[in-house]
Amino acid sequence: MKIKPTVYNQSMEPETADMGQELQAPPPECIICTQDLWKSYDMGGEQQVDALSGVDLAIQRNEYVAIMGPSGSGKSTLMNLIGCLDSPTRGVYWLNGHLVSALADDELARIRNQEIGFVFQTFNLLARASALHNVELPLIYAGVAPAERLERARQTLISVGMGERMSHKPNELSGGQRQRVAIARALVNRPSILLADEPTGNLDSKTGNEIMALLDNLHAQGNTIVVVTHEHDVAEYAHRVVHIRDGKVAWDEKTARAKS
Ligand code: ADP
Ligand code: MG
Repeated sequence: MKIKPTVYNQSMEPETADMGQELQAPPPECIICTQDLWKSYDMGGEQQVDALSGVDLAIQRNEYVAIMGPSGSGKSTLMNLIGCLDSPTRGVYWLNGHLVSALADDELARIRNQEIGFVFQTFNLLARASALHNVELPLIYAGVAPAERLERARQTLISVGMGERMSHKPNELSGGQRQRVAIARALVNRPSILLADEPTGNLDSKTGNEIMALLDNLHAQGNTIVVVTHEHDVAEYAHRVVHIRDGKVAWDEKTARAKS
């Protein structure tokens, strides 16, 4: 919408300035809100790839959303923008009421740390570090004192069922155990949003179901969950499925779980 704010000149007489297109913040319950979000890659010459071409997505606090779509449709690009790991070419992103493009780098880093935990298909753990140290790392970046961060890393590993394996390195753990460590790392800062990009993609279906049960639990504790998957049985854990085609939201539906 276009609004003309009242501004004051030096004599304190009100005058109306045309500030152009002013942005209106989304309602407070909308924790993730994108408006006409684009991500384009310049491939040299005349070639350009639009990984996202105008995504409007509103996710409420404590929603459980699955994002589905064929390979190359833009799911990871969208997740990386939502997780503030990358910035859009065009469009607007509000994260918990903050206009992300207007944040300074240090503010963005702080808010991202506070609000978002990110889980990847390939776990992305530090190979040479123990499970405990992997989970401790975000707390080191956040400046938490050693005794407290050790205790919090331990508690978080226990909460994902990894209490017995804290000193193991990633190559001494199974895929499911690695993903639990990665989830503990994502949770250790107590973010309100958990983003997971194909978290079960490298796991067998039984282990995948265990990981999804863990996400269910986090949802029940009040977290907002967004999970990318191309498996229907994984998407059924969610309450809403957003279908992406060619960098756009094609359709959006409630799952059987939301209706029950
Ligand atoms: P998905 O996760 O749904 O498989 P991606 O978001 O990874 O899809 O990619 C969407 C599209 O953007 C694809 O066509 C992909 O090739 C392209 N793309 C992604 N990242 C880059 C990049 N860094 N440079 C150029 N093209 C990219
Ligand atoms: Mg992907």
